[in-house]
Amino acid sequence: MPVIRKSNKLINVCYDIRGPVLQEAKRLEEEGQRILKLNIGNPAPWGFDAPEEIVQDVIYNLPASQGYVDSKGLFSARKAVMQECQKNGIRNVGIEDIYIGNGVSELIVMAMQGLLNDSDEMLIPAPDYPLWTAAVSLSSGTPVHYHCDEEQGWAPNIEDIRSKITERTKGIVVINPNNPTGAVYPKAVLEQIVDLAREHNLIVFADEIYDKILYDEAEHVSLASLAEDVLFISFNGLSKSYRAAGFRSGWMIVSGPKYHARDYIDGLDMLSSMRLCSNVPTQHAIQTALGGYQSINELITPGGRLFEQRNLAWEMLNDIPGVSCTKPEGALYLFPKLDPEIHPIQNDEKMALDLLLQQKVLIVQGSGFNVPDTQHFRLVFLPREDVLEDAIERIGVFLKTYRQ
Ligand code: PLP
Repeated sequence: MPVIRKSNKLINVCYDIRGPVLQEAKRLEEEGQRILKLNIGNPAPWGFDAPEEIVQDVIYNLPASQGYVDSKGLFSARKAVMQECQKNGIRNVGIEDIYIGNGVSELIVMAMQGLLNDSDEMLIPAPDYPLWTAAVSLSSGTPVHYHCDEEQGWAPNIEDIRSKITERTKGIVVINPNNPTGAVYPKAVLEQIVDLAREHNLIVFADEIYDKILYDEAEHVSLASLAEDVLFISFNGLSKSYRAAGFRSGWMIVSGPKYHARDYIDGLDMLSSMRLCSNVPTQHAIQTALGGYQSINELITPGGRLFEQRNLAWEMLNDIPGVSCTKPEGALYLFPKLDPEIHPIQNDEKMALDLLLQQKVLIVQGSGFNVPDTQHFRLVFLPREDVLEDAIERIGVFLKTYRQ
């Protein structure tokens, strides 16, 4: 029988968060072993339930959700997103500028598929949430990674961005608050990115799915609130702040000057129509989520689970000899660094696999987030304190003797 291969489109597509190390973890679990899973930003399995009112909304509206709806989403959901834009200072957004999708993931792929041709370039942060790089590659574009400085709290390096803009650059992706670093960018840095976009006619793609998960004094500025003369596509959803990742519900907002982008927007409308509409029952939850009581605030302030777990995990990691970690100001992740003098790592996927096999702790290797080195890894601080303590102690034990 002839070999059946994946399409050429997928040759450069990589998504290591659910890659071979996870497969091995599944195999171990099937054998009956207990794995401490610090690998995925999925709040619900760790006891972070979605607000009851949004769950009830979905249940209540289920009978009325049997048919297709408008491809771009229910009016009530888009209206709620429109009001959220007003709250965040994003001006001139109408119902037609909003697309509801099956999670931000679907909308990221749609936004890239609708825009890119062969060898068009997209600026993406390194480290990144790797779906962005994968979506650009899938869309036959070229991901061009710009540097974020660990020494500067992982802020984007503006000079590096500038040096990588070419005549083929179509846009720039900004993930703020950032996955995997937890950085929340200062307004001054965001303004410099907007200036570059204006100067070079770039579209700014603002992934702000963690905008309400902020610690200490961190303040989030919606990128699209900073200019009305630059085209922005902003992304957000129910998965993180509302702990409803399984609902698969997110939204995308087009703002700024649209006249010159009419053709691209027509493309987005077409892609949106081609998948008929997004999951209807959970669209009913969007209005309640955005307009209701923001229970996430209880989790991110002192005494709240996310706040305390972040502190514990960050302190414990920094106590391991040869490990340093920037304190996350937002999101759900830590992105520690292994000192190359003490723990030189040639192959970080192998390190993640060895950690799994020796200590039954599942993390994701840094190269999975497109960092140019092999000295980082990512863990989530969603698990309860006793699990985090156990897992990070095991990481310390592993590193004591691990050599590649
Ligand atoms: N963007 C970022 C930065 C993420 O971390 C994630 C999920 O982890 C997503 C988008 C995808 O979110 P969704 O569940 O809405 O598809």
